[in-house]
Amino acid sequence: MQYTQNQMNKKLEDKLKNKYKFLKRKIKAPYSYVLFGIECGDGWYKLLDGLCGKIEKELSKDGKLAKKFYVTQIKEKFAGLRFYTSYGNDKVFDLINEAENDSFNICENCGKPAKHQTVKGWMLTLCKACLEKHKQERK
Ligand SMILES: [Zn+2]
Repeated sequence: MQYTQNQMNKKLEDKLKNKYKFLKRKIKAPYSYVLFGIECGDGWYKLLDGLCGKIEKELSKDGKLAKKFYVTQIKEKFAGLRFYTSYGNDKVFDLINEAENDSFNICENCGKPAKHQTVKGWMLTLCKACLEKHKQERK
């Protein structure tokens, strides 16, 4: 069993989708994002909210970018955020990199400050309290 949720709460996911139009683009290709939505814990909601806000700002400045840009996958990998898109420019990729780096310091479970660490072979980005809970559950 995987401890950290690998699916964002549907309510939070919908909240993001309703806020950012580019997250709602109708894409026919079977990308993970189309099939599974946001595949990471709720703790990164605020991080994603911030990132999407900045991306939307960039899209509003550049019609070509806005036309070609869509999300192909949002997930957790090695306890870090991964945000994959169809297209981008330097600024957008910088923003994504920044958010991915920040995710290593944010509890994937609850959003509190956290440390990226390996516990019994599992990479986790959890705050102290969530890590304790994790240890209890895996005893
Ligand atoms: Zn936590």
